[in-house]
Amino acid sequence: MGLPSTSIPTIPGAQPATLSGWGLRDQARCLVARPLNEADIVIAFQAAWEAGISVGLRGGGNSYGDAAINADALVVDTSGMDRILAWDAERGTITVEPGVTISQLWRFLLPQGWLPVVVPGTSVVTVGGAAAANVHGKSNWRVGCFGDHILRFDIMLSSGERLTCSRTENADLFSAAIGGMGLFGCFTSLTLQARRVSSGLVVATQTAHGSLDALIAALEEASAWADDLVTWLDTSARGASLGRGLLNAIRDLAPGEDPQPERTRSPDWQDRSLGVLRLARTLPDSWLPWLARPLASPWGVALANRAQWTLGSLRARRLPDLRQPPIHPRLMSYVAANFTLDAIPNWRDAYKPGGLIQQQSFIPREAAASAFRQLIERSHEAGIVPSLAVLKKQRLSAFLLNYLVDGYSLALDYPVRRGHEAQTLALLRDLNAITLDHGGRIYLAKDDTLTAEQAQRMYAPETLARFHALKARYDPDTLLQTNLSRRIFHRIV
Ligand SMILES: Cc1cc2nc3c(=O)[nH]c(=O)nc-3n(C[C@H](O)[C@H](O)[C@H](O)COP(=O)(O)OP(=O)(O)OC[C@H]3O[C@@H](n4cnc5c(N)ncnc54)[C@H](O)[C@@H]3O)c2cc1C
Repeated sequence: MGLPSTSIPTIPGAQPATLSGWGLRDQARCLVARPLNEADIVIAFQAAWEAGISVGLRGGGNSYGDAAINADALVVDTSGMDRILAWDAERGTITVEPGVTISQLWRFLLPQGWLPVVVPGTSVVTVGGAAAANVHGKSNWRVGCFGDHILRFDIMLSSGERLTCSRTENADLFSAAIGGMGLFGCFTSLTLQARRVSSGLVVATQTAHGSLDALIAALEEASAWADDLVTWLDTSARGASLGRGLLNAIRDLAPGEDPQPERTRSPDWQDRSLGVLRLARTLPDSWLPWLARPLASPWGVALANRAQWTLGSLRARRLPDLRQPPIHPRLMSYVAANFTLDAIPNWRDAYKPGGLIQQQSFIPREAAASAFRQLIERSHEAGIVPSLAVLKKQRLSAFLLNYLVDGYSLALDYPVRRGHEAQTLALLRDLNAITLDHGGRIYLAKDDTLTAEQAQRMYAPETLARFHALKARYDPDTLLQTNLSRRIFHRIV
């Protein structure tokens, strides 16, 4: 499978296009089909099979690396299948097509007093993409991952057969396709359980902690009362201060705490709550990346990290007792707490032309501090300091290609600078090795550098055997592939 670019065949309704991962480093010439219904998907699968090319699936294209691109072959982009199909306001269950975005979901649910249980850091992700990567939010240690709240889905196999899957029906495929990175079939509808909320506001508190150990200890203390937790690390800090950072702890408002819940639950009010950030949308598209570009340079990274730490620690200098909810909290809107960066269009363009790689390592609790220290120190030694570092508390999940652990994750952003690509890739492969040496896992939705040998180490032999057996059963011709699947599961090509 996979033909040279000069000879991509014609597929009815598909157009040639250059697609990239969200990090802009991976680019590939593909044929792109944009189905509007199940019949269109079957036609695309059949045409690709007849033409002898593989099919990669794509939602919003927000995976950082090569998970949703398929060089010299077909990409089926389901973002146009974006209808809400059913809603049960009593039970809070919603059935949607795979192209419905997290933004569409919260805008529909919040005015009715409901929200998606798990959301990633951007709302432009589609439900199909969120299910295929089994995304996690800032509450993973408490409520689990996206797949834990999927009740059932319909999936189109490469043969054109549609199956319904749940925990009791086709349960093996249910477990494999959630987190299966689009390699088992195309979701055509998904039913999710939502959660009740009384207000469109949350209570947020930020505290500063001078070392990695102190930051992790604070995260643990705040987990006794917080609903969402996320920490930002100052990547410029070294020695005893290495891993110092700011902890954002957030809790939902209880019924009765918000005097105007209907107002704060309205999408209009939520949009207005972004205040001055909304001005970014009025700037010409090309300005913001240009304004932000210095932040992607080595001195800009160091300066921005220092500045954020200094400002954050000044604001948070009186530490509350983190075992209790804060007494003088700051109220924030749901969107400001979850999707602030969505207000700034094209901010990733600051990383052009080389793009950005994010490495997110998930490490079991006991080994986490040592592993994270090594990841940051190794970056300093290589002279390639991450522009952003985010640490979260995580818990294990039971889906087949699981990447989650009982412990913590550290996401590190690496700008890829002109002339430094080979050095950056070598560093990232070293970081993958450090993660694996600590019994950790790499998140495929962000990954761009894991090797096939490293992937072999990451999964238990019985997991890989099961993956290949289910792949052979549900996609026997290995029609479904992506650049990522060929890179790390080379046996399926
Ligand atoms: C700024 C930013 C912040 C992020 N924050 C988080 C976070 O906090 N937590 C987190 O977990 N992730 C996070 N992510 C990663 C993101 O949530 C995942 O990469 C997600 O999978 C992207 O969804 P998408 O709709 O863009 O899908 P794509 O990136 O297009 O595809 C993702 C995977 O889903 C498969 N796929 C897509 N549609 C279908 C379908 N219909 N049927 C079957 N398979 C399909 C693709 O083949 C691919 O393997 C973040 C990404 C960005 C850019």
